[in-house]
Amino acid sequence: MGPPGAGKGSQSAKIVEHYVMPSISTGQMFRDAYSNNEPIGIEAMKFIKNGNLVSDDITNKIVALRLSKQDAEDGFLLDGYPRTVAQAIALDKMLDEMGTKLDAVINILSSNDVLFERMEQRRVCRTCGTTYHLRFKAPSVEGVCDKCGGELYQREDDSHESVMNRLMIYETKTKPLLDYYDKKGILFNVNGMQSFDKVYEDVELVLGEF
Ligand SMILES: [Zn+2]
Repeated sequence: MGPPGAGKGSQSAKIVEHYVMPSISTGQMFRDAYSNNEPIGIEAMKFIKNGNLVSDDITNKIVALRLSKQDAEDGFLLDGYPRTVAQAIALDKMLDEMGTKLDAVINILSSNDVLFERMEQRRVCRTCGTTYHLRFKAPSVEGVCDKCGGELYQREDDSHESVMNRLMIYETKTKPLLDYYDKKGILFNVNGMQSFDKVYEDVELVLGEF
């Protein structure tokens, strides 16, 4: 967890590479579904492009489908979900039915200034979803993905207005989730205002416990 731009996507990419488990990113699933012209993607993009949260119903549905796939049986990482208390409750129910539970919720802390800077400089690969930062994690060749040669673009929801809206929504709808998980005793805070590698070291200190 963490506000938009805190580095959830980059950190989760590294976590799943190290621990070999699927990363379940609702944002990425919606963007993929949209690229493939699937109805659920088109519906979701109406919310996303304005910086709004996709409705709980649609989001829970895409997660339930993903969790039912075989590769999620031995563990998984959720990135960008749940984002509301209603989604967290729905997730607990799904996990109950699967006979499993969340081990840890990692919260990446960051300030609004840092977040704005990050999101405006962020570029994403259209093909493989790898994220870059024009200053801190720039691609070797401008506009081209180092990993797959795909085209880099700025996400529609990374525009200034959209970012402001996302931060406001984070404060009102997502922040209450921190309490929800803190009460369960599974919330771990990590300082996100450090280099990517240092943040990851701190994440590993938490995950190493499990
Ligand atoms: Zn790529």
